Parts: sequence; C-alpha cells; structure tokens
Amino acid sequence: MNKATIQSKLEAIREKVEAGRRLSAVDGEFLYHDDVDLHAVGELADMVRERKCGNIAYYNLNMHLNPTNVCIYRCSLCAYSRDADDPRAYTMSDEEILARGRDAAEAGCTELHIVGGVHPDMPFDWYANILRILHDAYPRLHLKAWTATEIAWFAQMTKRPARLVIEDLIRAGLGSMPGGGAEIFDPQVRQQICPRKVDERTWLGIHRAAHQLGLRTNATMLYGHLEQVEHRIDHLVALRQLQDVTGGFQAFVPLAFHPANTRLAHLPKPTGLLALRTIAVSRLMLDNFDHIKAFWVSLGVSTAQTALGYGADDLDGTVHYELIHHEAGAQSPQTLSIDEMRTLITEAGLQPVERDTLYRRIKRDDVKWEFE
Ligand code: SF4
Repeated sequence: MNKATIQSKLEAIREKVEAGRRLSAVDGEFLYHDDVDLHAVGELADMVRERKCGNIAYYNLNMHLNPTNVCIYRCSLCAYSRDADDPRAYTMSDEEILARGRDAAEAGCTELHIVGGVHPDMPFDWYANILRILHDAYPRLHLKAWTATEIAWFAQMTKRPARLVIEDLIRAGLGSMPGGGAEIFDPQVRQQICPRKVDERTWLGIHRAAHQLGLRTNATMLYGHLEQVEHRIDHLVALRQLQDVTGGFQAFVPLAFHPANTRLAHLPKPTGLLALRTIAVSRLMLDNFDHIKAFWVSLGVSTAQTALGYGADDLDGTVHYELIHHEAGAQSPQTLSIDEMRTLITEAGLQPVERDTLYRRIKRDDVKWEFE
C-alpha cells in the first residue's frame, strides 16, 4: 500500500470512529497492517476509550486459584498442565482451597479468579464443591470461575446441557465466568494449538447460556502464535456478534502468547508493538464491549501501562499466585500492590478507580471495603 492510500483509508476509518459507526472486518485487518502508523491507531482507540470511560482506568484486588494442574487435554499452547502421574502434578485439598480463600479475604480482595485443568478423575461435584466451600466461608468474595472449556467438560461428564451445569454452579456460589479457553476460534489454528478444546460454536454457546442465566462473563483472545491477522479479526467479529445478542460480556482481554515450556517453544514471543496494536484494534472493533483489559501478567507491567494510552481501561488486579502465564515464561512479578497499580494508572494520565468484578466502584478504608 502506498502512503496516500493508507492515509485516505485511515481518514475514512477516523470519520467512522468519530461518528460512532461500526468498523468492518476489512477495516480491522487494515488497522493491523504494519504500514499503518501504530500511534494513529492508538489515538483512535484512545478516543473510544475516553468516550466510554472518561478519564478513569480500573483495577481490582484479586487472587488466583488454580485447584489442579492435571489436565487430559495437554494443549500445545500450555506450559501449565501435567499428566496425573507427573511428579509436578498437584490437586489441592479442601483445606488448601479454603486457605487461599482466607488469604484473599484477609488481604481485602473482592475476587477469586478460579481456573485449572480438566482432571480426568475428579467428578463434577469436586469442582462445584470448590465454589460451595469458598462461598460458604467467604460470602463477600466474588467467585469468577471455570472457563467454557471446563464447563463443557462438566456437561460431558454429567451428560447434561451446559445450561443446567451453570445453574448448579450458580447455586454453589459462582458469581461470573472468566473468558479463557477462547484462544483463537479459527478451526485450523485451533487444531494445532488446542485440538481437544471446545470449538468456537461451543465456546460461544456456553457464554450465551451463561448470559441468558444472568451471569456476566469476559472474553479473551490468545494472539502471537500461529494465527494470522484475519483469524484475529474473525475472532473479534464473532465476539461482537454474540455481544449484540446478549450484552453479557463485560471485558475483552487480549492475551499475548508465551511460548516457553510449551510445545510451541520454537515460536518467537509476540512483541510489545503487537500487544499495543491488538489492544487498540480490539478497542476499535469491539464497539459493544465496555472494557478492554491490559492484563499486566500477560503483557508485562510496562506494556500494560502503555496500553492505557492505546484503548485499554483496566489493568486487571493484584493477582497473587498466578501460575498459567508464569509457567510459560512470563517475566512479570507475581503480584502488584494497590499502590503500584494506582501509580501505574496515574502515571498514564488517568484516574485510578478500584472496581469489583462487576465494575462496581469500591470505597476502601485500609482492608475494609464497601461499594460506593
Ligand atoms: Fe488443559 Fe487448559 Fe492447559 Fe489446555 S490450556 S492443557 S485445557 S489447562
């Protein structure tokens, strides 16, 4: 593309963005083109972020809980999972799970993020019971748990529709669902990176069922491995279509692929520039999503902070105990303090606001907290 063509296409997209008109898949692919100035794309995305969120950016106080790393799927993209007989395999006891809940509650967390492996020997009730015991002991902790991959496994195991499984989990204490397992929807790429995971239709169907039951969920996209630009755009368009129908997604979380210790370790790590462009294009394409998250564990702290100027309005949380990205070579720290998160946001020129999982504002006095 010559400079004049790029300039006129960019101008046409700017007019659409300023008018609040929806971008097409062709527009999205254009914005991903290396010849299109990243800063110009970021500026457009920042305009949308400001229109949606004003001058604030969000963070929350949360902890992670990965109850087991035993997983029968053993996806090529995964550095975290283990076979059951691997000496590094673990499955947490109820006591260990409750201890994590206590840690989270004592640290003033509002959320536990719970995902793990598809364990071949653990019944559905083991997974449901994790929510039950945590919810009974720490009712103020919001339990954001189980990806669509796990929900599909529960449905397969119990031979029941996903909708009924989700209803059971809500009764056990489920507060919302994370967005994992989406990876890249394209079936050919999926076949190479996670062949046994749920396909696009099932992933979207489970989120649709969750939304119909009143649950809010997140959506993710794993980029920087074998996928091409058109796969990323198709992925975003599929999410946008479901959001048009249900409105149940809260945040979109682009995840940078970390190849270390995976069967795709020969691939280079995606660059910070690709991370920023992906955040910006996501913000522009997902016009019906309220929030774009720069998950600092995946992006690295500096890139996540920079992403606040490229369309992101949320840094995710304080985290603690993250295993999945760190096992794959993420160099980010294990946790960030409230002060660190607030400073990162303030330095980016925005006002930090603590939120709970459902984006309600939190007013905090030391570790005690209330909704504003
Ligand atoms: Fe299992 Fe998830 Fe790892 Fe795949 S990515 S092997 S489903 S833990």
